Formats: sequence, C-alpha cells, structure tokens
Amino acid sequence: MKEEFSKILLKWFAGHHRPMPWKGVKNPYWIWLSEIILQQTRVEQGLPYYERFVKNYPKIENLANAKEDEVMKHWQGLGYYSRARNLHATAKYITNDLNGIFPKTHKEILNLKGVGPYTAAAIASFAYNLPHAVVDGNVYRVLSRIFGIKTPIDSTAGKKEFAKLADILINKKRASDYNQAIMDFGATQCTPKLPNCKTCPFQKKCVSFQNNWVGELPIKTKKIKKKERYFNYLLINSADKTLLHKRTEKDIWQNLYEFPLIETLQPFDLKEVKKQPLWKTLFPNENIYIIIKISPPAKQILTHRKIIATFIEISITQIPEKQPFLVIEKKDLKQYAFPKVITSFLADKSLYLELF
Ligand code: SF4
Repeated sequence: MKEEFSKILLKWFAGHHRPMPWKGVKNPYWIWLSEIILQQTRVEQGLPYYERFVKNYPKIENLANAKEDEVMKHWQGLGYYSRARNLHATAKYITNDLNGIFPKTHKEILNLKGVGPYTAAAIASFAYNLPHAVVDGNVYRVLSRIFGIKTPIDSTAGKKEFAKLADILINKKRASDYNQAIMDFGATQCTPKLPNCKTCPFQKKCVSFQNNWVGELPIKTKKIKKKERYFNYLLINSADKTLLHKRTEKDIWQNLYEFPLIETLQPFDLKEVKKQPLWKTLFPNENIYIIIKISPPAKQILTHRKIIATFIEISITQIPEKQPFLVIEKKDLKQYAFPKVITSFLADKSLYLELF
C-alpha cells in the first residue's frame, strides 16, 4: 500500500482540483503569505485576507515598509495576531538582511519567525518542489485512517510515527502536487465528520474503513481545557471622545487596541469592578459619571482561553487630563485594529446606545 499511496492520491488529485488564488503560484513570498494566513484558519475565511495582502503589499518590501498599525488593521478579524507581527518582522528581516531574497532551503525557511515544520514543508514544496512532506491535522486524519494507526496524534510517539510515514509516502518528484493533494483530500474527501468513503479511491485498502474504525480515528489523548478570563471594558463616553489602550503587554492580542480594561477573576459583578484600582483612578468620586448601559456577556474562544467580555458604557462630563489612555474621537474608532470580541460588539448597535 505504501508504494501505491501517492499514485492513487495523485490520480484522485487530477480529478479534484480545488482552484485557489495561491495554487500554482511559484512566488515564495505569496506562498508564505498564504500559508501564514491559513494557519489555524479555514480557507474561506483566509481567502479575502490573502487577496488584501497581495493587493496592498505585492512585494515583500511593500510589507516590510508598511506601518505596524496598518498591517494589524488589515489582519483584524483573523485572530492569532502574533502571526501578523511575525509576518511583518520577517518581511523586514528578508528585505533588510537578505536583500529581499526569500530563503531557498527548507532549513532556512524553518528558521523564519512564525514558521513551523508544517509551514516550512508547504513553502519548500510549493515554491521549490523540495521533497518535504506536510503533516497537519488533515494528514494525521488521512494517514491514521488509511493505515489504521491508533497511536495518539498528540503524543510524542505519534508525532514521530506520522512524520516518518509521511516522509516515506511523499512523491519526491512531485512534492508540490503531492502535498497539495493530501491536504485537499483531507479537506474534501476524508473529512473529520462524514468522510465520503463511498466514492473514495482508497476504500478497498483503507484499514479503518475495512474494520469499521473510521469514526474512531484519529485518536487524541488530551482535551485542552480552556481557561476562562473575564474582561470588563469601560466605554467612556464624553461628548465626542472616548478612551483606548494599546495592548503592548506579553499576552493575547498584543498590539491591538481595546477600551480601558478591568480584568476580574469572576464573572461580571459591578461591585467587584468598582473596587479595582483603575475604576478608582478614572472615577475618584461617584458624582462624575453615570453608567448608561451594561452589555450581556460576549464570548471569544481562543486556543487555550475563553474570553468573556462585558462592556460598561459610562458617561462622564469631562475626561481627566491626566490619565494613562489614548483620548480619541469616537468617529475615529474604525481606524483602530481591535480583537474580534470588540469589533463584534461595535458592529451590533443594539448592544449599546447611540451615544457611542
Ligand atoms: S475510505 Fe473513508 S476513511 Fe478511508 S480514506 Fe477513504 S474517505 Fe477516508
């Protein structure tokens, strides 16, 4: 079966092309862009972002010379913002230190910021047809099912076993097509739920199909427990102005903007929020503000975290001159890159008053 694997796969690929703007592209910069955008992102979601980046930054030096706030704004809504920061830093590194020439070997590509083994293999094979097999969730699923492998895919032993098998299976002469084919096969034929076994060219040889294990594979050991964090945002409303903060701390959403934040250990409780030092700094006495509206909790799920945000709309007569936030005109809010939980909140006018 190992010998036939790539033959069957490439034959399937010939009849199941999924046209994508980056397919067939040999420009390593554009391939790298598409791969970074598609990390942790569905193709349909990433597509407009890829087109926007290629249009705004057709060459790597255009991206290198762009302002960070602008890059973050283009990235807004895609999540995992460290990707955008790494993208920008790497564009600068390639432009300034490598004379704008994208690295050409797998090892050098793997050394780029934000590029792991999967992305390095994808770029090396798509741009230069180098024989490095991609191994991601799709590949784990396809290989575990076809070869009936029950080693957990999130164990060290499993990772080694799948990587070794993937390296044996890759068609070295057609590495680019092979990698594209196995990803497309996992995404459209051997899908996580309801794989299309009926029309599958591997059906007769597929160990899990023959043994009725399809629903059980691949096997995972750990389930990530998501830690909950409670964010209480203060939407300070004073005439046409409000306050913002840029998240520069080493934490989620680095370099994105947000409203003044009070994080609490428990779900929203106004009494608890009012006890916090920031509240006391902004509102030293009770007569200078009015709470206009408190939103229902909004959720944003991240890889290891669940953010539960409450927005407290507060009117004050005058913004104190001395405070640690950026004072901006409310009409300029659109110019700032926010995390998704804030953009969704601002997009839903029923959640706040017209004051905002
Ligand atoms: S037969 Fe089903 S489980 Fe096996 S490779 Fe094909 S689609 Fe996947």
